[in-house]
Amino acid sequence: MSLDNTSHPGGPGHDELVPSRYALRVGEIDVLVVSDGVLSLPGAMLGHNADPAVRAAWLKDMFQPPDVLEWALNAVVVRSGGRTILIDAGIGADPGLNLPRAGRLIPRLEAAGIDLSSVTDVVLTHLHMDHCGGLLIDGVKERLRPDLRVHLAAAETKFWESPDFSRVSMPPGFPDALRRTAKRFLNEYSSQLRPFEQEYEVAPGVVVTRTGGHTPGHSVVRLASGGDRLMFAGDAVFQVGFEHPDWYNGFEHDPEEAARVRVRLLRELAANRESLVATHLSFPSVCHVAVDGDVFRWVPGFWDY
Ligand SMILES: [Zn+2]
Repeated sequence: MSLDNTSHPGGPGHDELVPSRYALRVGEIDVLVVSDGVLSLPGAMLGHNADPAVRAAWLKDMFQPPDVLEWALNAVVVRSGGRTILIDAGIGADPGLNLPRAGRLIPRLEAAGIDLSSVTDVVLTHLHMDHCGGLLIDGVKERLRPDLRVHLAAAETKFWESPDFSRVSMPPGFPDALRRTAKRFLNEYSSQLRPFEQEYEVAPGVVVTRTGGHTPGHSVVRLASGGDRLMFAGDAVFQVGFEHPDWYNGFEHDPEEAARVRVRLLRELAANRESLVATHLSFPSVCHVAVDGDVFRWVPGFWDY
């Protein structure tokens, strides 16, 4: 597999005006951030416990419209020790929620020269549909290897047997779609699942760790090689979470715990000075975290090209 940035004339996605992938290295580990697209969601989702006026002011300060936030949707491919690991899989086919700008991960992987049959492992940060739906697109499972390993926290599998949506604040239609997708995923991939309790080293320097919070089995992936470190934080960190880590995201099933996890991870990232990539941070999402008292600052990575 080549993690290169060259164009593939005539290949899928060749006519896209905005680049959909960004490659970097963490020591000996190859990392490729690939965009699944953009989710347009109501602005209230970014902090349903926040004063609406303060929330509107934040969106204005970010030069965003007052009522909608365009969430990036990033997945990552990691290559280490001869293994090719897909971390999260995008939303897949639109589940009837009018999200036409997302669901592009699979053709974009192909455009990047990554054949689905070369993927040895999938790590899922959690089972929300924007993280596992790509694996449910017609024909995808057939193109994956029969010995594919899917790593997912055991707590996540258990949660979706009887999921609690009492603390979330989602647009209509989302809870049902999330339940349906998670259930379908667990049915279709049951024989590939490699559940872990708290932590698992998927490949040399590639460690998935359960954090809980967003969902009970929500996990992050830490990469470490040589002196370099990078964390893929899944849905533990959102754009607004640097300035307002205590704002409850509408998709958090345990918002208080999600906020505690967010603060703990942001402090760790700031202290270690390591790179951060997260699902819904503006593509390509590679950044650093600075801290000033109780407030964090997002420092976008300088593009290396
Ligand atoms: Zn998400």
